[in-house]
Amino acid sequence: MKSYYRNKIFCFFLSVFGFIFTSCDDGSLNIFTLEDDIEMGREITNEILANPSEYPVLDEYEYPAAYGHLRRIRNDILASGKVRYADRFDWDIYIIDQNVLNAFALPGGNTFYYTGLIKYLDNEASFAGIMAHEFAHCDRRHTTARLTKLYGYQLLLSMLLGDNPSLAAEIAADLALGLTALAYSREDEYEADEYAVKFIYPTSWDSRGVAYFFEKMEIEEGADWMIYFSTHPHPHDRIDKIYEHWEALGGKEGNLYESRYQNFKESLP
Ligand SMILES: [Zn+2]
Repeated sequence: MKSYYRNKIFCFFLSVFGFIFTSCDDGSLNIFTLEDDIEMGREITNEILANPSEYPVLDEYEYPAAYGHLRRIRNDILASGKVRYADRFDWDIYIIDQNVLNAFALPGGNTFYYTGLIKYLDNEASFAGIMAHEFAHCDRRHTTARLTKLYGYQLLLSMLLGDNPSLAAEIAADLALGLTALAYSREDEYEADEYAVKFIYPTSWDSRGVAYFFEKMEIEEGADWMIYFSTHPHPHDRIDKIYEHWEALGGKEGNLYESRYQNFKESLP
């Protein structure tokens, strides 16, 4: 991983020129290319797959039914026409067999779902909403936009003051720490909720799935509640905003698919 980022740092210096003269496609500054997102995601995915004691990823050949459900849900979200990089990013999906109430996304489209989360939910609309939320983090390129914010000015300074070889190692170390070091901002979470509604709305699911998840947790508040919110901000405002986005799109009622989701849960170990 480190050598990749050491090479990459050279490219950063080149792209700093782009950083000065151009702004990003949607206004949020990002000095990384789409290929950087994809490569970074693949590197971290490989590290996760090489660490089964910390990340016991379910084998897709051992659990074909579970991965079948996961792929069907993924494909329907990507077919919504609303995912900007649907044809560009990897969008590989993995199940981690741990009783953890969480999911996470890497740059470039790869996402991970804990069996604890899948088993906790009552319907497919909730799960699809969470998957769409994770997809939104990838599609809006939140991680590399955040890295741009963290390192962009440092890179400019390094360019003015001379080489800074420790910076590449610093970035690699932050990425290795990964999920905690690169926790998303509140704004990122609100945006991922908003795009989750947008991605799901054209499908047959109810597009308020993420709100249903929060509502269920509010009702059944317990120890697991805080684990999810160690990487995601507290949900009260988020529930209201999800309903607002849903109403703004026309307030279409969708399906929950409870019995089909039960089959998904039963296909897990
Ligand atoms: Zn999130």
